[in-house]
Amino acid sequence: MRKQIGDCAIELIQGDITQQDTEAIVNAANKTLLGGGGVDGAIHRAGGPAILEECRKLGGCETGDAKITTGGNLKAKWVIHAVGPVYRDGKHGEPELLASCYRRSLEIALENGIKSIAFPAISCGAYRYPVEEAAQIAISTVADFVRNRDGIQLVRFVLFDNKTFYAYTAAFEALE
Ligand code: ADP
Repeated sequence: MRKQIGDCAIELIQGDITQQDTEAIVNAANKTLLGGGGVDGAIHRAGGPAILEECRKLGGCETGDAKITTGGNLKAKWVIHAVGPVYRDGKHGEPELLASCYRRSLEIALENGIKSIAFPAISCGAYRYPVEEAAQIAISTVADFVRNRDGIQLVRFVLFDNKTFYAYTAAFEALE
């Protein structure tokens, strides 16, 4: 599935983010940036130890923010490590923090001249964000960003499991 917003294509696929050939892939990291399970574990396994070496020097990352390393052995040249919120009840700033992850990742991409980027479903695994809400926030935040800022040519959402893929598909189809 694909939609064009100005100069930027937004795509949605079901697959494995570690295999993407976009210039950057985004990691759903935790605040330590020192590795974890889920997509984080998969990225460090596929990219090799160079990524963790760089992460150690970054001194962690606040929730809602992101930091960049190289991509080690990945096809992607860069990994942008974004820290999503742990979902509690939706009344602890979770929607704003989740939106901030997507915005900060795209800002860091622009600062580094990155034109193509792939995102996983940040916070939708171990951090238990309700997937329909997370999908809506992810897609509308990215669409707003690329409407307002030039430079990103491709944003690809890479969803791993069926449930997440279908939720993102519904949010994507609803996008004007
Ligand atoms: P968080 O801690 O932010 O919730 P997780 O890694 O636990 O992060 O889960 C985020 C999403 O990433 C979930 O939808 C999970 O199914 C998905 N995921 C896990 N492995 C991969 C992968 N290799 N590629 C893309 N998405 C993945």
